Amino acid sequence: MKTFIFDLDDTLIWTNIAYNSAHIKFLSFLIDALGPKAPSVVEMSKTFEELDMEAAEKQGFVKERFPRSMQETYKKLCERAGASVDEKNLRRAYEIGLTVFDENCWQKRGLVEGAQETLDFLLSKGDDLVLCTKGDERIQKRKVEVTGLDKWFKQVYVFNNKTYKELLKVSKGRHNPWKVGNSLRSDVVPAIKAGIGVIYIPCETWAFEKVSEVPEGKVLKLEKLSEIKEIYDAL
Ligand SMILES: [Mg+2]
Repeated sequence: MKTFIFDLDDTLIWTNIAYNSAHIKFLSFLIDALGPKAPSVVEMSKTFEELDMEAAEKQGFVKERFPRSMQETYKKLCERAGASVDEKNLRRAYEIGLTVFDENCWQKRGLVEGAQETLDFLLSKGDDLVLCTKGDERIQKRKVEVTGLDKWFKQVYVFNNKTYKELLKVSKGRHNPWKVGNSLRSDVVPAIKAGIGVIYIPCETWAFEKVSEVPEGKVLKLEKLSEIKEIYDAL
């Protein structure tokens, strides 16, 4: 028997698509809101990313962070341009941020290719499936329900951040644990530090997940989720 500790976002469901799409909508909104006072698209985008990263480091992963970062960006750009902040625009910025939590989109997008057959395969082997994700608990649990992942995962852990400490809590006492995830910072590095193997299926998301150095460890890099079946016997 083996234990698979799965990441959720951009490992079992595609999440970054919604964030990219909201980002584009937000830039377009800024151009309308600031008119000729709008700086370059690159500068607007960079300002937003910096503010949102800072907020993630400070507040962790709460639902309000992303829409609030859009409001803060709008305010900052108004200030730089010497333009006044409009209340209606502030509300609109927040609404654009909230679009990433649209349950209909989660449902429509469903699971990543091969997830269903891979999870069925692991369950048929009698393995222990655990979901360990970072984010806002209300949001993450709802994603699990809406996408039907609760069919395979009876154990769902949501943390405000994901370091080796959280992973140790989840993996303690489990048989042959493997972490499965897409992020160097949130999946690979914590697994190595916790001394457990990691199945790394890269999916580029945002600057927060980048790391400059990865320590030595047991890392198996795959191109897609369904390849877990092919390497299963060697785990
Ligand atoms: Mg992820």
